[in-house]
Amino acid sequence: MKLETQVVVIGGGATGTAVLRDLTMRGLKAMLFERGNLSEGTSGNFHGLLHSGGRYAVKDKPAAVECIEENDILRRIAPQAIEDTGGFFVTLDDDDEAFLPIFLKGCAEVGIPTELLSGDEARRLEPALSPQVRHAVTVPDASIDGWDLCTGAVASAKEYGARTFLYTPVVEILRQGDRVVGIKAVDQSTGDEYIVHADYVVSATGPWAGKTARLAGIEVPMVPNKGTMVVLDSRPVKRVINRCRKPTDGDIIVPVGTTIVLGTTSVNIEDPDEFSIEEWEVDLMLDEGIKMVPMIEDMRLQRCFVAVRPLYEPPVEAEEEAEEGREVSRAFYVLDHEQLDGVGGFVTITGGKLTTSRLMAEKVVDLVCARMGIDVPCRTHLEPLPTG
Ligand SMILES: Cc1cc2nc3c(=O)[nH]c(=O)nc-3n(C[C@H](O)[C@H](O)[C@H](O)COP(=O)(O)OP(=O)(O)OC[C@H]3O[C@@H](n4cnc5c(N)ncnc54)[C@H](O)[C@@H]3O)c2cc1C
Repeated sequence: MKLETQVVVIGGGATGTAVLRDLTMRGLKAMLFERGNLSEGTSGNFHGLLHSGGRYAVKDKPAAVECIEENDILRRIAPQAIEDTGGFFVTLDDDDEAFLPIFLKGCAEVGIPTELLSGDEARRLEPALSPQVRHAVTVPDASIDGWDLCTGAVASAKEYGARTFLYTPVVEILRQGDRVVGIKAVDQSTGDEYIVHADYVVSATGPWAGKTARLAGIEVPMVPNKGTMVVLDSRPVKRVINRCRKPTDGDIIVPVGTTIVLGTTSVNIEDPDEFSIEEWEVDLMLDEGIKMVPMIEDMRLQRCFVAVRPLYEPPVEAEEEAEEGREVSRAFYVLDHEQLDGVGGFVTITGGKLTTSRLMAEKVVDLVCARMGIDVPCRTHLEPLPTG
């Protein structure tokens, strides 16, 4: 089947669905192709934390600013996907006390509201916390559902005329000389082939960004990084509990529905389609969780799951040359392949977090609009997603 549109979006995670919504809200005709179901990749298998930015407040201030700003926006536009749990950053007896003032200063500098509680005050609010908790700092963390966010964005985009094709992987990116002119996709249930001509193709395929770019004959160096999470069968805490220290493995507990989710690990892998959960990862998540909430030791492990972080790593020698064509953020990357590789009509958006997916979409759609000579501002932060 032959189709035509202005923009094709590849990938139905938080980023791709936000891109589709933004494009159509600015009046462009757009279609999204997803190889599985919506949020089937990282966005449906992540830790579930709507970041306040606290985790990045000391080491990565630009990322922290993005998180606190987007945290506020998503609460307004997607309340149906969010449970406003609040969060604690807890300091345990063995933790370095010197980190606490640095953390509080970092939060203040980027505008994250905090309150310092004693261990006893924190335990009055969260009785399951360890007696080893010396201090807790309150932050506006929350729990967020990837499926609700993605389906809400698609429902909104459809109101603006978008089309989506699920279980329809893009198998070729079509080029005419130095320009991408569309895609070929195959419906997995019917075998139907789609040849779609488009002015622009946006790859929003998260950890698969490297594989997708290769379909256009372009190299996007990714370092897929897996993280394992452990789900326990009840919910001893109401809030997100983070360890107040330099970010490392196993230092966050997120309440999700009737469960809590412990996570995560961070292990570089070769291929975002080839990985498994290892026993040491599960043991580490449990050991670290027990330090903050001792009753975890007696809880039943319900299941474990794993997802792959979309980490982009530009080759060092190419970094200076690439700078001009890459809208750099410590947190995410908009790769304009016209500037970087001399191939027009194609852009990759990758990296970042689910918390910043709306902002990522805004930046990439700004670029696509500029390249297409369209001057319509983003409105995705103003209009709520449809509910139901
Ligand atoms: C372990 C872990 C924990 C995390 N925890 C958090 C957290 O608590 N809070 C937070 O904000 N962020 C978190 N993140 C980061 C966040 O989950 C991701 O950054 C975000 O979900 C990425 O969304 P995406 O849409 O870019 O990618 P994805 O959600 O991976 O979407 C990409 C989509 O592209 C599709 N695709 C791939 N190839 C093709 C093709 N050829 N044709 C069609 N479709 C294709 C895939 O099926 C997939 O659905 C976590 C990440 C990991 C790995």
